[in-house]
Amino acid sequence: MEIFDVHGHLLTRIIGGKKYMSPEAEKWFRAFFLGTEPVLDAHAEKLIEALDTAEEILGCTYRICVNILDIGNIYNMEVSISELNDWVVNQAGMDSRGRILPYACIDPRRKEALEEIRRCVLDLGVAGFKLYPPTGFYPDDHAFFPFYEEIIKLQQESKRPVPLLFHQGFCISGSKYAQPINMEEVAVRFKPDLKIIMAHAGIPWSDEALSIAALHANVYLDISLFGDLYGFWPGLHMQLFGKAKRAGVLDRILFGSDWPLCSAWMEADIGAPTWSVLHKTIRALKDMQMPGPLVELGYPEITNDEIDGILGSNARELFPDV
Ligand SMILES: [Zn+2]
Repeated sequence: MEIFDVHGHLLTRIIGGKKYMSPEAEKWFRAFFLGTEPVLDAHAEKLIEALDTAEEILGCTYRICVNILDIGNIYNMEVSISELNDWVVNQAGMDSRGRILPYACIDPRRKEALEEIRRCVLDLGVAGFKLYPPTGFYPDDHAFFPFYEEIIKLQQESKRPVPLLFHQGFCISGSKYAQPINMEEVAVRFKPDLKIIMAHAGIPWSDEALSIAALHANVYLDISLFGDLYGFWPGLHMQLFGKAKRAGVLDRILFGSDWPLCSAWMEADIGAPTWSVLHKTIRALKDMQMPGPLVELGYPEITNDEIDGILGSNARELFPDV
């Protein structure tokens, strides 16, 4: 079995003696853990341990894309954007088996944005970029169109896809910037070349995200933290998968864990820190079946192969060289 997790994070408080997290930022990050024990120094070492555990228990290979958020626009970040991106690349390099793929993160409002994405793709070889609209920007702002054009140029120069992972859906704050409809124009204007992953399948606006993906083949959805506000609820995942299948989008649904958070993190009997239980998330997904009442409503069955596709092979298109 091959697991390809397109959405994970690394976290740290300090980089090279400088603060990445101000006290306000630390408070903000803690809120994401919804009362569970926060892991504010989620370094590669811990992730490698989690990957090893998952691989051993499941008998699989486990690759994961990770990023650290560019929060410079909302909180005082002492590190520069290039120090931040260098850090994530160096951390990823700590796994000798190359299972950790670094995503650079950048706020497209930064004046050095174009220069930095060029450096990240051509010099650092990042797998893609994470963009985080809840810090206060709408992805379809025309001021960012040169940014998207530059990504397409960089794909041509590097001869590989450079996907953009956008946080979509609810957030601790700034959710209005992350409503999928604000991505539609970007998807249309830059298709088919610009590859867009809408994180969290845009929940609670998942129908909106799904509709955009159904109409534009350059749009993918990841299922990181999908529905966890409601507690772990397989029926909710199955509604998403069933609708995606009917809309012809199921092979563009991608697995994400949001490590060190974890999509099974609210399960009552989790019995271990969230960062360490990637295998439980995978098991829970593999055990899912379409509930009878949904079948009666017209939801199609989801096969084991289709679940395996979500967990791994669907991401191949975006990361063909890995
Ligand atoms: Zn995330």
